[in-house]
Amino acid sequence: MSEILSSRGELTTVTPMMQQYLDVKEQYNGYILMYRLGDFFECFFEDAVTASRALELTLTARDCGGGKRAAMCGVPFHKADVYIGKLVEMGYKVAVCEQVENPAEATGIVRREVVRVVTPGTVTDDTCLSDRRHNYLAAIFLGAEGTGVAFADISTGEVAVTSIQSEDGNEKLLAELGAYAPSEVLLNVSKSSLKTLAGFLTDTVGATVTDARADLFDGENDTLLHECFGNTAELLSETASRLAVGALLAYIKETQMCAPTFLRDLKVYSDGQYMEMDVSTRRNLELIESMRTKEKKGTLLWVLDKTETSMGGRLLRSYITKPLLSAVEISHRQAAVTDFFRDYALREDMREVLSHIADLERLTAKAVYGSANAKELRAICDSLVYLPRVKELLLHTQSPRMEEIAETLDTLDDLYGLLSRALVDNPPLTVREAGMIREGYDEEVDYLRTIRAGGEGWMKDIEEREREETGIKTLRVGHNRVFGYYIEVTRSLTTQVPNRYIRKQTLTGSERYITEELKDMEATVLGAQDKLCALEYEIFTMLKDTVVTAAPRIQRTASLIAETDVYLSLATVAVENRYVCPEIDLSGDLHIKEGRHPVVERFVTDALFVPNDTDLNLSDCRLMLITGPNMAGKSTYMRQVALITVMAQIGSYVPAESARLGVVDKVFTRVGASDDLASGQSTFMLEMTEVAHILKTATSRSLIIYDEVGRGTSTYDGMSIARAVAEYTLSKKIGAKTLFATHYHELTSMEEEFEGVKNYNVAAKKKGDGIVFLRRIVRGATDDSYGIDVAKLAGVPKEVTRRAHEILAAIEADETLPKARTAPLPAQPKEADLFTAAVDSASLEVAEKLRALDPGTVTPIEALNLIYEYKKILG
Ligand code: ADP
Repeated sequence: MSEILSSRGELTTVTPMMQQYLDVKEQYNGYILMYRLGDFFECFFEDAVTASRALELTLTARDCGGGKRAAMCGVPFHKADVYIGKLVEMGYKVAVCEQVENPAEATGIVRREVVRVVTPGTVTDDTCLSDRRHNYLAAIFLGAEGTGVAFADISTGEVAVTSIQSEDGNEKLLAELGAYAPSEVLLNVSKSSLKTLAGFLTDTVGATVTDARADLFDGENDTLLHECFGNTAELLSETASRLAVGALLAYIKETQMCAPTFLRDLKVYSDGQYMEMDVSTRRNLELIESMRTKEKKGTLLWVLDKTETSMGGRLLRSYITKPLLSAVEISHRQAAVTDFFRDYALREDMREVLSHIADLERLTAKAVYGSANAKELRAICDSLVYLPRVKELLLHTQSPRMEEIAETLDTLDDLYGLLSRALVDNPPLTVREAGMIREGYDEEVDYLRTIRAGGEGWMKDIEEREREETGIKTLRVGHNRVFGYYIEVTRSLTTQVPNRYIRKQTLTGSERYITEELKDMEATVLGAQDKLCALEYEIFTMLKDTVVTAAPRIQRTASLIAETDVYLSLATVAVENRYVCPEIDLSGDLHIKEGRHPVVERFVTDALFVPNDTDLNLSDCRLMLITGPNMAGKSTYMRQVALITVMAQIGSYVPAESARLGVVDKVFTRVGASDDLASGQSTFMLEMTEVAHILKTATSRSLIIYDEVGRGTSTYDGMSIARAVAEYTLSKKIGAKTLFATHYHELTSMEEEFEGVKNYNVAAKKKGDGIVFLRRIVRGATDDSYGIDVAKLAGVPKEVTRRAHEILAAIEADETLPKARTAPLPAQPKEADLFTAAVDSASLEVAEKLRALDPGTVTPIEALNLIYEYKKILG
């Protein structure tokens, strides 16, 4: 058996076909190349190994010359799309190499070319896309000119770009990438020089990174920029931004193999437009993805999303990731929501109408990229029919934004007219099949159809004529798929058959014949069928081109529908959950009366969610110092304040009795201790990195949430850090509105020492042997930490909690520790089960090692390694 190669590097002599493969592959390094061979698409060498593993295909081999065989795996050509979809979903880039000449006519090797490439960020096939979320391709230019980062969703045509000043550093870039979560990223430099960024993109964002593509970030792309965006391109004053957008366009052109003219107006945005949130804040607040399961359930998006269309779903998601900063813009959105909030009938009617509207953005994109079929054009048509009704309903709105939408909504009547006249209600899937065009639309189509269907009529005519001429009364004219048209005569009467009859087929009791006339008719009918297919395809292409020409209009309409859908959704949620419209101003205050956590209130089932007030301002209450036992509700309360702020700034109503909120420029949360095992950073290190970032970037207009800062280190260390952080945040250097939960009771003395600090606690009440959480935030510090009560609640043995009370009382009275009444048990041999069982030397060794270990000094990753080591010793 000859040797099987799984790498191209080991080749010397190759067959001509393999040479062709290698030449193509050379141009598509970094892609999985699917090479058409007969009825299959095959992958070779490294690609075969990767694809067979990813797609669970059998790995075979094929002669490649020099007595060697190339590793190979393949998929049937008609199923290729399914497999390409799977590969792209897993983050691979795929190039499809087709035969571009008829193999029968080829001299030598059939010519092959890459006809399509599909990558995670440029896929337009809806089976690979999730309908309620954008699929972004990003380009990052890093250079002396600064950093430019651009995003495009080519399935909807959205493009946005921003530049990042070098003093803002990495954090800002990561925050932008975290907000857009692109599935593919293009870099001008090599990722090996950018450890943090590359790690973040692959691990946190989960993007496919194409690096070192300096060729894409080329000043020459300015022509492309002007072609796509006309004068808007002038807005790109920053070189870095221009290069980033240029790279997107060049890459889209490269992958789609057509000019990227479909992209919509370019959105150039800056810091001043949106609320800033870093990656961990977004994660902590669970805006669109839950922390544990990474799902939508349990997030703010999950609560707010009652949109009817996919377009609305995607827009709402973008709103949540980018809350506004302009009080005027916020108030416009609020007024639009109010239009729907006030009018039950309008809500119900609009919801009904919108529920019929398909994903116009993506359907149009498919038409533009040439992959739409008649069914998809029909789906566009079936959605357009509802637009006049939407426009009519919009007459019932009165807010400036809704009135503007009502006025500018293009109902695309001309396009609807054309498509509905031309397409049948339920067209076939393939565009090469007849049956797409509606009767009465095109005379030629109708004529060809009569000829084709007329078969029945003329068959009868001929049958009658032939019966008369031959005198054979039982003669029959028929048709079947294999033999075509024939005249059938019973065997006993075949002697009466005239000479012009040509024998075609012999059956048991009869003979079948053909005549010149029948032959001619057959040709006409078959010709009609072919002609009909060609003509219908031609008309379909014309219809598709009309859609492509109308694409910008369809896109504008689609985005107005999406916006309407979002306002309707926010209004519906507000009514269902009893939200109020917050007053937005520039005061810097946050006043929330009876505020609730939008998500937790939906999950509390055993009791009612207890609402709480919040009063923060820029003077006498800048920092709320919150104490209270674990499980009392501190985190919930603090997140609730942050979420209400985010909701207000996207234009939503909020879960409260009333609220007056000054616009917040940035929200930060330092919540909980989430171990980052993968990065090997200790919890405390991570905590301090986040704190450092907050202290460097927060302003007096920001809202900061600190949850138990300093918990990750020893008591005195932790307390000192916590207090220093609180003091700095409070000082003129920042002066931000702050919610600070701590278990260091010593910090409560700050209220007396500093202006702007107020103590609060989450009330709990002792009841018999246990405690009851009241979930109420009240003024003052807690007098008791209830830690021991919580321990009791959690099932810690009575003996232990009783002893803890004793120790606590002694510490509080500053006494030396009382002797334990129950004498400590002898250390050997009954210290614990592990040690009791430590009879063999391996167990003894592990026991010794464990004893010597100070858990406070190891990072989680080290601990994990130790567990592996100990297990190894124990065999
Ligand atoms: P802490 O941060 O003080 O340890 P949490 O905020 O995590 O406490 O709250 C613990 C649990 O208490 C929550 O999961 C929630 O179920 C419940 N809870 C918190 N706040 C409230 C509230 N205001 N009303 C009702 N239940 C609440």
